[in-house]
Amino acid sequence: MIVLILLLYGIILGSFYNVIGLRVPLKKSIVVPRSTCTTCGHQLKPFELIPVVSYILQRGKCRGCKSRISPIYPTFELLTGLLFMTAPLVVGWSTELVVALTLISMFMIIVVSDINYMIIPDKILIWFAGIFLLERIIWPLNPWWDSLLGAVTGFALLLIIAVVSKGGMGFGDVKLYALLGLVLGVKIVLLSFFLSTLFGAVIGGLALLFKIVKRRQPIPFGPFIAAGTLTAYFWGSEIITFYIHFLNQGF
Ligand SMILES: [Zn+2]
Repeated sequence: MIVLILLLYGIILGSFYNVIGLRVPLKKSIVVPRSTCTTCGHQLKPFELIPVVSYILQRGKCRGCKSRISPIYPTFELLTGLLFMTAPLVVGWSTELVVALTLISMFMIIVVSDINYMIIPDKILIWFAGIFLLERIIWPLNPWWDSLLGAVTGFALLLIIAVVSKGGMGFGDVKLYALLGLVLGVKIVLLSFFLSTLFGAVIGGLALLFKIVKRRQPIPFGPFIAAGTLTAYFWGSEIITFYIHFLNQGF
């Protein structure tokens, strides 16, 4: 039952995170005005703003101009809900759940902003840095300095790559990884980086192969960081244990 409430919360917050991710980089207010249809400018009425439900009731069309509404919106809302629902099943019903939900929330906003504008807004990183710092003071990692070591490692590793790749990796990613190190500690942040680049290489490679993107076209890295980090955070110790076991067995 409570899992369903988390799903519902996730869906509702997901729709709000989408608005934040779209408006903060443009320095627009996240409260007013209400969202409009991107085609005809028709301002959405409260009953057209119900996440997922409105989309289904309107069969994916704007009530003003009948143009198609991108299925990305309800998918994104549903994905946020599903991640919220999954979090307690993985980290348990502990205080760590608060950290997990904060992490998912930050990633949803960053992914929207990075996909649409290729930036991770400083404002978002600063908000979440404050929240995460507070959370790690109240519920520190074991040992507590793992946060410090993680932040330094995340920052240094990404800075080197940003410099070497000459803009292939943005400075937003460097700051994000410092923050992720603070939240996750050194071991998980390294695994997060490994998985993010792995996902990026595989998906990026496939996108090139199927000509969805052109060679040298910059790809936002935020979605891969989100996928890699959540995988590392949720299943990191299992992955590391499995890997060590695998090495010991010598195939
Ligand atoms: Zn319209």
